[in-house]
Amino acid sequence: MPDREGTPEGIPVGIPVGIPVGVPVGPQRRCAACRARRPKAELLRFVRGPGGVEPDPGQVGRGRGGYCCPDPACIERGLRRGGLARTLRIPLSQEEAGRLAAWALEYLKGVHRGTAARPRIP
Ligand SMILES: [Zn+2]
Repeated sequence: MPDREGTPEGIPVGIPVGIPVGVPVGPQRRCAACRARRPKAELLRFVRGPGGVEPDPGQVGRGRGGYCCPDPACIERGLRRGGLARTLRIPLSQEEAGRLAAWALEYLKGVHRGTAARPRIP
């Protein structure tokens, strides 16, 4: 389970990563890895797109969505162990999972630093 203090990598959890701070918290969603319920805005969204699973940090992508805590442990588990693939009902290769996990970790570091320089969606 993620805690509220942050991760060993120094990435804080419990902060909105999908939409800007200040936007009212809307509905809750469940993490595909640890099943914790959190406000949607605090979770990282992935969407089932035409070419497979894609990150959807803006949470605006059309299609079936799956959510993950902004926690490296949940991201790794959700992507590599099939939680997200099950939620999205689409197979996810280890190669794809690794690519998405790497993207997500870079993205969270960017959020943490508050920089606009967020990695391009692979
Ligand atoms: Zn989680």
